[in-house]
Amino acid sequence: MTKHKSLEDYAARRFRFAGNALLEFSDPFFAQIDRLRAEFEAQGKHFVSFANYDYLGLANHPRIREEAKREIDGLGIGALASRLVGGERTTHKPFEAEIAEFLGMESALTLVSGYLSNVTTIAWLMSGKRDAIFIDELAHNSIVAGADGAPAQVVKFRHNDLDHLEHLLARHREEYRNVLIVVEGVYSMDGDTADLPRLLAIKEKFQVWLLVDEAHSLGVLGATGRGLAEHQGVDPARIDLIVGTMSKTLASCGGYVCGKKQVIDWFRYTLPGFVYSVGLSPVILAAARTALRLMQEETWRIAKLADNAELFRTVAHEAGFSTGPAIGRGVVPILFSSDVETMWASQHLLENGYYVPPVVRIGVPKDGPRLRFFFSANHSEAEIRGVIQTLRDMPPVTEEAHQIVAAAMA
Ligand code: PMP
Repeated sequence: MTKHKSLEDYAARRFRFAGNALLEFSDPFFAQIDRLRAEFEAQGKHFVSFANYDYLGLANHPRIREEAKREIDGLGIGALASRLVGGERTTHKPFEAEIAEFLGMESALTLVSGYLSNVTTIAWLMSGKRDAIFIDELAHNSIVAGADGAPAQVVKFRHNDLDHLEHLLARHREEYRNVLIVVEGVYSMDGDTADLPRLLAIKEKFQVWLLVDEAHSLGVLGATGRGLAEHQGVDPARIDLIVGTMSKTLASCGGYVCGKKQVIDWFRYTLPGFVYSVGLSPVILAAARTALRLMQEETWRIAKLADNAELFRTVAHEAGFSTGPAIGRGVVPILFSSDVETMWASQHLLENGYYVPPVVRIGVPKDGPRLRFFFSANHSEAEIRGVIQTLRDMPPVTEEAHQIVAAAMA
């Protein structure tokens, strides 16, 4: 057994294992987007980020800035307490009603992050040892963390393989008391979707609950951006819980959980990540609320995002790249066969004014390195064609780069 002398020593070993080795080749992480943009523009060059979540291109919308500023001039930035005991503002509940209504759900509760919303909802709900949480093997870390933090059993099913899920439920449903299935509207690394009509049929057949994480599908799926249910033509009210975030389409940050009124009322008084954490900042809320309204007023943004992502997928395929199972909405990856090629490609793009961070080892399987592209309604056709052309023009990975990475990973 290795005993670590100090916490620093332990951290150094863990960090090396987690990904530090790659940094010896190049460090594409923590890129300062504002600095990069300024540097490129100072040289008269164009800089484009495909790394940011701003699906509908609302991040710099003047109305969002105005509304947020107005709120700052009111009571300041923080909610300054848990909402239960001092942090409640007049804007919290109306915003929750607005988002619930938009999504076709009865009620909603906001929390300070999307990550927290998953962790606390799943862990709190599945509180018995005889409960079970069935999660997709590619579920986001916040879902895994919630499931691992719950006393319930955790069962993983193969990615988007609902035959596998059904088989597992047929064999094991009777062993458990409450069962929760958790899926995502759009998977954040692959850009594919879950089959909601079938999931609802499975939920009803086995009498289990369903939570859909719509972090990447709000404002992205469905003609009016209402998410997976709208995209697949089903009634969202049949879903038990929808968890979402304001950090992507709503251009700010914070999370929410939606469900039946009785469930959300219970959460409002008991959900640990809500009760024991500060209320959502009213400034952030004002920004998100404005984004939610703009999304409904300017639905062309949703169509533009879909056009952009679909154009990218088409041009990428024409160039011979693989985009895996992505359906061509907000997230589309380009898959590579090795970490070194992925790092090399990211570096090459950055030198040419496109920031697309590599996703290697962290967040994806070891054999699934990729460049992950986030699209925005603000991207232009020239930018999308340009990034693929630049990838096409990429020089082959040098032997030296291979060796550096191979040595670092050994
Ligand atoms: N769920 C999914 C599927 C996500 O991809 C993310 C963030 N990338 C979250 C939840 C967490 O959201 P936030 O970043 O707003 O905390």
